[in-house]
Amino acid sequence: MLEAVLVLLAVALVWTSVKLAGHRRAVRTVREALVQRQTFLRHEHPGAAGKDWIDFCETSNDLIEKLTKLETAQTSQLAQLDATLGSLKEAVLVVDSHNHILLANSSLQDIFPRATEIIDQRLEVVLHSVTFLNYVDAVRKGTAEPYHEIEFVETDETRWVEVTGTTIPALDGASGQWALFVLHDVTRQKRLERMRKEFVANVSHELRTPLAVIKGYIETLVDGHQDMDLADRTRFLNTVQRHTERLNSLLDDLLTLSRLESSNSALERESVELRAMILSIVEDYRNRPDAAEHKVITQLDSAINRLILDPLKVTQVLNNLIDNALKYTPAGSGITVGAELHPAEAEVEIRVSDDGPGIPEADLPHIFERFYRVEKGRSRERGGTGLGLSIVKHIATLHGGRVQVESTLGEGTTFRIWIPTHPKQ
Ligand code: ADP
Repeated sequence: MLEAVLVLLAVALVWTSVKLAGHRRAVRTVREALVQRQTFLRHEHPGAAGKDWIDFCETSNDLIEKLTKLETAQTSQLAQLDATLGSLKEAVLVVDSHNHILLANSSLQDIFPRATEIIDQRLEVVLHSVTFLNYVDAVRKGTAEPYHEIEFVETDETRWVEVTGTTIPALDGASGQWALFVLHDVTRQKRLERMRKEFVANVSHELRTPLAVIKGYIETLVDGHQDMDLADRTRFLNTVQRHTERLNSLLDDLLTLSRLESSNSALERESVELRAMILSIVEDYRNRPDAAEHKVITQLDSAINRLILDPLKVTQVLNNLIDNALKYTPAGSGITVGAELHPAEAEVEIRVSDDGPGIPEADLPHIFERFYRVEKGRSRERGGTGLGLSIVKHIATLHGGRVQVESTLGEGTTFRIWIPTHPKQ
């Protein structure tokens, strides 16, 4: 329409300039008015007087005014769209028929933080995804699914986005259709789903081994118990018992984790005499046969008074850490259970250290992950489930605290947890 108007005006202009030869100034005024979309006054050029000139001026002025109104309306339509979509939580993207980006709201920037200054750029330059471009084509052809999940692989991370798109009439009056896309970031859900799948796979794997052993031994016992000598039978039954215990600990740890992770998991906080609690836990260990060959000592800060915490859960933290120190250090090793008050930070630090073989540096960042073990065989052989340290971390976090591990190969390992002395309820 714009072009048609311009052509019309140009023809009129030529006609006028021929007709009114010598009135160059008038022609220049008209030209400038057209370029600048400004109406002009007919009596500014007395030399160009006459009815035709006046008609021409009025028609041109009318057309210029219409054109200006049309342009303002188009710009404000886009601006209005921009203002409406700008505040939406969902990311919105509008592209023209050549995939030039016309509009992108701020939520789009949250999903693709590196896509800055993207207006007027081509879609393929900004979002590197063949799948998305294919989806854009499908939307234009009307063959797209209502929702499509697309993986955007960036150099340092992968994002999953659920996208839905539709075509809209071009607001600039051009013949092609624009396309509007609403993008919803589902990366977090995807990651959780993957973690859940991994967890189920890990649990199945952990259950399978003891169950297979139990099944095998029971079958042998059922089939051959009459001919089997007593020593073999006892050995078989002991193995079945060991693996049953392993299954039991695994289920116990899984239940504990699931309770800690459940949304309504609450701490049962009470005022606790922490030093007395630690002394009694360590005393229990000293009386246990499996700790007989270890030297367990305490180093407790006398400044620690009563603290508000969940005694059962903190006991579990200490049990898991001391159990590990016993499991993964040889007989004769020393284990120290310490607690220190840090008044400036309003925290109490509880630590369990040993002088055992230590943990390789490469394993340290993963040590609190579920089912992570440094030496798989050794952990299983000692009844480990690979869940003890993730339980420790969960309990510390629930108290508003944190955990840390330090280890040097051949020198030993120290686990620390910090718990706030003035917990937020
Ligand atoms: P597990 O049930 O296997 O003991 P944890 O989550 O408690 O599982 O511990 C994870 C792994 O960390 C263990 O399998 C072991 O390899 C390592 N580990 C934990 N504590 C110590 C320690 N004190 N010294 C050496 N290695 C340790």
